[in-house]
Amino acid sequence: FDTEVTDLRPVEDGWEIRTSKGTYKTRYVVNAAGVYADKFHNMVSNKKIHITPRRGDYCLLDKTAGNHVSHTVFALPGKYGKGVLVTPTVHGNLLVGPTAIDIENKEGTNTTREGLNEVITKAEMNVKNIPMRQVITSFAGLRAHEDGHEFLIGELEDAKGFIDCAGIESPGLTSSPAIGEMVADILKEKMDLKEKENFIATRKGVLNPNTLSKEERIQLIKEKPEYGNIICRCEMITEGEIIDAIRRPLGAKSLDGVKRRTRAGMGRCQAGFCSPRTMEILARECHKSMFEITKSGGNSQIVKGINKDSL
Ligand SMILES: Cc1cc2nc3c(=O)[nH]c(=O)nc-3n(C[C@H](O)[C@H](O)[C@H](O)COP(=O)(O)OP(=O)(O)OC[C@H]3O[C@@H](n4cnc5c(N)ncnc54)[C@H](O)[C@@H]3O)c2cc1C
Repeated sequence: FDTEVTDLRPVEDGWEIRTSKGTYKTRYVVNAAGVYADKFHNMVSNKKIHITPRRGDYCLLDKTAGNHVSHTVFALPGKYGKGVLVTPTVHGNLLVGPTAIDIENKEGTNTTREGLNEVITKAEMNVKNIPMRQVITSFAGLRAHEDGHEFLIGELEDAKGFIDCAGIESPGLTSSPAIGEMVADILKEKMDLKEKENFIATRKGVLNPNTLSKEERIQLIKEKPEYGNIICRCEMITEGEIIDAIRRPLGAKSLDGVKRRTRAGMGRCQAGFCSPRTMEILARECHKSMFEITKSGGNSQIVKGINKDSL
């Protein structure tokens, strides 16, 4: 939501939360701040915790390399986790990584030469002749490694109404539905919550025209011509899918938002061709100017000025 929590303190009947967009009062706080969860935990509790950002570098290879292995090839797990693996992705690419490198900087999601070299060297110990010339992008993420090496989930004894979800490192993604249910149960009990009778527990994904028959697709394009307009040529993503991703509840507002929901920009050219076109659609749909469209929120605007402005 583009809102940063800057401070929080206990007040009568709850918590006061200061943010970049104003101050809020709430009865309960769920601290799910990833690598920053220790910062907020330590603001309110005397039992201090410490989270180290543990970086994992990855290389993503083009779909031409997707068949280099037929299964995920794991190394023997070590002290730092499951090790570097080589895996075909569900969309047909080849993914190689991750490393596990402890760093200080909680914003340090940049890859490094040493990290990427480690990915290649370790992957080649298990799989020969990986076509590394087919790398289309590399990236890194930070695991929130807590010193005690456990997920910390639950209300703090010395800070009532403050619920931690801290130290959620790997396999935090796999565990997230269970963690969500656990936290919901805690809040349900505390707040005497009742499930809505008309609660909709499922939602429709963005319509993927590739899942339709030829006849259905022709019909769809007749009714909604935007499904006949290919925007991302590498992944064959249509304008219709991008509009769907933007207009739905909690819709995409940035290029990365569209990418995560539709795969537009995830292909071989890594958004070289479709970025300006996706930006135009975002600007039109969100009633913004091209200068306001960002790569991933905050200050990540892409257009900074008009060419030959100074002439
Ligand atoms: C390299 C790597 C490999 C992994 N492999 C696997 C795997 O194979 N299987 C698996 O299950 N898991 C894996 N994980 C772990 C998984 O990705 C994480 O456990 C999971 O994403 C953690 O989710 P989270 O919601 O706790 O934290 P995050 O996804 O980090 O979310 C924290 C959120 O808090 C927000 N935030 C922080 N501070 C503030 C603030 N002050 N104000 C407002 N918002 C704030 C951040 O912007 C962020 O959106 C891997 C992680 C990495 C890095």
